[in-house]
Amino acid sequence: MSNYSLASQQKLDTCHPDLQALFFYVILGYDNTIVCGHRGEQEQNEAFANGYSQLQFPQSKHNSYPSMAVDAVPYENGHQDWSKTQSANFAGYVKGIADLLFRMSIISHKVRCGVDWNMNMDIDDTKFWDGGHFELVEP
Ligand SMILES: [Zn+2]
Repeated sequence: MSNYSLASQQKLDTCHPDLQALFFYVILGYDNTIVCGHRGEQEQNEAFANGYSQLQFPQSKHNSYPSMAVDAVPYENGHQDWSKTQSANFAGYVKGIADLLFRMSIISHKVRCGVDWNMNMDIDDTKFWDGGHFELVEP
C-alpha cells in the first residue's frame, strides 16, 4: 500500500477537503505524487507562461484557497509517469472513486479531469490535454 511523501501531503493540505478525502482513498490503491495544490499569483502566471495552464491568475481553480484543483500524477518505479495512457488510466481510477464517494455523500462535489474537460467520457475530443489535473465542480 502506498502513501504520500511529506511534500505531496503538504501540497494536498492546501486543497479543499473533498480533494483531500478523495486522494486519501486514491493513494491506497494507485501510487501517485501530488504535483500541485494551491497556486499563488506568481506560480500561476509562470504556469501560464510555460504553457502548463491556459488561465492567468486568478482564473484557475488552483488559485482559490483552499484550492479547488489538484495535480496528481501516477508514480511508477520511482518516476512520475505523464504518458497519455497512464494519465487516462489514472483519471479513470480517480473518477471512479470520486463518483463512489459522491454517491456515499463523503464528498459534495463532482470531479472533472483535465483529460476530459467536457465530461463526456471521451478523451479523444480533449483539446487541451492536462493529464494529472483534477478539479471540483458543483454537482
Ligand atoms: Zn491543474
